Amino acid sequence: MFVCLVAAACLATGVTARAEPASRLTVLCGVDEAWCATMKTAVLARLNIDATLTRRSTGEILDQIRREKDDPQTDVWWGGTGDAQLQAAAEGLLEPYQPEPTTAMLPWADNFFDLSGGRSAGIYAGALGFAYNTDLLKQKGLKAPACWKDLIDGSYAGAVELADPNSSGTAYTALATLVQLFGEDEAFKYLAQLAGNIRAYPQSGSDPVKDTAHGKALIGISFIHDAVTLRQAGYPLEIVAPCEGTGYEIGAVSIVKGAKNKDAARAFVGFALSAEGQATGAAAGQNQVPSNARASLPPGAPDISMIRMVDYDFATFGSADERRRLLKRFDSEIRRIP
Ligand code: PLP
Repeated sequence: MFVCLVAAACLATGVTARAEPASRLTVLCGVDEAWCATMKTAVLARLNIDATLTRRSTGEILDQIRREKDDPQTDVWWGGTGDAQLQAAAEGLLEPYQPEPTTAMLPWADNFFDLSGGRSAGIYAGALGFAYNTDLLKQKGLKAPACWKDLIDGSYAGAVELADPNSSGTAYTALATLVQLFGEDEAFKYLAQLAGNIRAYPQSGSDPVKDTAHGKALIGISFIHDAVTLRQAGYPLEIVAPCEGTGYEIGAVSIVKGAKNKDAARAFVGFALSAEGQATGAAAGQNQVPSNARASLPPGAPDISMIRMVDYDFATFGSADERRRLLKRFDSEIRRIP
């Protein structure tokens, strides 16, 4: 840390001396890089905790927490789709956590907390959808897609991106959503047809919509709030809530069992659940719906009550057996399609 030794020089440069952080914390961060960085600054300022936040995709975090089981190197898992945190909770990898009684969580977050056995708390929600690049669509003279089933049209060959559901919680949400919408065999038939149009299965869930924004792909399947953030930044994106209906995620936070910095971990989670902590999302340009009833909605957050939504079954699709089975089927039936 920068230490200012000469008071006059500190004043002249506008730098003020700061006490050493009271504690350190290791956080695996499942949200966008920009939010990880904003949260790091906020917890240093508000909690005097020097947190290391490392961005990873949801499936990668789950794998890392499993690998570290006997000697945890991570204190907190913050962000990313909560289904994987439910699996970690069921596998005994997370500490129970009791939020402050004054924390006013919305009902979907309360349900998620109960489902995790009090080991993981919802911090935001967001609906799945897709976005297309309006400039590219016009250039190619193609019809705008409005439904999941439109994405398998031959005119979009090599132009669609979906992340790899093994690493990406976003893509696993897409897989589970399609199974809930169409039934499992129909969903896999659909994914096999979609594979013919897939340009790439990148590792991170926001890559498809970023590649679409940059004109590398025509259509990216992603969370709608990710696409909103890019559209606000000026990219030529049209955002679609698919006509058949769609699924959604609950992003979550948990303390790792055996965390070495437990007090700091509890303070971090308390902040992540507070209205002030959740406002760091909007400050970082993010558009998820916060779980704290007192947190203000980011101005661009999609109105999820207007989206046709499946009654997403977090208990089933958040279970380790179901995730393992669906991913195995995806790898053997879909990923091998050239
Ligand atoms: N980025 C944002 C903005 C998200 O809302 C989420 C999901 O919680 C993710 C990233 C998840 O990333 P990934 O799909 O790479 O696991």
